[in-house]
Amino acid sequence: MKKKSKIYLAGHIGLVGSTIMRKLESEGYSNIVTRDLSELDLTRQTEVETFFAQEKPEYVILAAARVGGILANNTYPAEFIYDNIAIQTNIIHTAWKTGVKRLLFLGSSCIYPRECPQPMKEEHLLTGLLEATNEPYAIAKISGIKMCQSYNRQYKTNFMAVMPTNLYGKNDNFNLETSHVLPALIRKFHEAKVANKFKAEVWGTGKPRREFLYVDDLADACIRVMTLEDKVFSSLLKDGTTPLLNIGSGKDISIKELAFLVKDIVEFPGDIEFNSEKPDGTFQKLLDVSRMNSLGWKPETGLKEGIKRTYKWCLDNSIF
Ligand code: GDP
Repeated sequence: MKKKSKIYLAGHIGLVGSTIMRKLESEGYSNIVTRDLSELDLTRQTEVETFFAQEKPEYVILAAARVGGILANNTYPAEFIYDNIAIQTNIIHTAWKTGVKRLLFLGSSCIYPRECPQPMKEEHLLTGLLEATNEPYAIAKISGIKMCQSYNRQYKTNFMAVMPTNLYGKNDNFNLETSHVLPALIRKFHEAKVANKFKAEVWGTGKPRREFLYVDDLADACIRVMTLEDKVFSSLLKDGTTPLLNIGSGKDISIKELAFLVKDIVEFPGDIEFNSEKPDGTFQKLLDVSRMNSLGWKPETGLKEGIKRTYKWCLDNSIF
């Protein structure tokens, strides 16, 4: 991928897409194509085909997806499976038909089995049952990986899937009904502080462990993969290899520890109340990131620093 290459960035408004967009622009990529939902509905096959025929992108970054936290996944399983399968199927298939040189498909660490050995390696895919709260989403993402693998095998395409761990950062979703835990805690503690409340609620027991990655580090990893030398890139797609790269920080933390860290950064003086009526989800989700590290990538932003930057961004942009 060169600075003048035509790159289609699908999903440029969300947390991941908007960060990749900023990073591409700051690195001097000057031919990026995007479309808003009002201009292109990615769940409609003919609209996607017409768009690719008109724009002829050389590279595709597929960050468009229906995403959400544990409650949203549990409440809208139909949308999570339908929208994601439709979007990725239309884009991956059309990318093959129009000769796209390289495609990057973004998924999530919830593709791995619920009882997966930790840290989770790429080869653990499809070795056990999935976590029930996000199974429809995970099945959609696994289908996307298998589509990339199948097209690579049959048509010699260069389609790669990257599976980020739990992400957070600027432009995240801070809606308490649909968000992930980190933005939810920033919001809850901030609002409790402003309202002079004595306590704030955290869902579940606080015992589950999660790994977090600042989204700017993910954007850096994605561009790193898209610009790998052909020789290195194709060695990752050898026959029989799942085209899959984990992207994470390699460190996890319990929800309880996270809650105290966020409480500290937000300076909420009250108590934390764990509500075990709410689901815990998977017990632990920690990625093995050695494959990505061997390509020379490491995240730069520590968790504390990333949360501080995110909270500052929220305040500067009057998010709550
Ligand atoms: P998951 O990683 O797919 O389980 O998604 P989440 O980020 O939504 O949840 C991670 C963990 O944080 C789960 O154990 C949740 O119960 C817990 N959690 C604690 N408080 C909250 C909250 O306010 N919102 C969300 N989404 N999760 C919370």
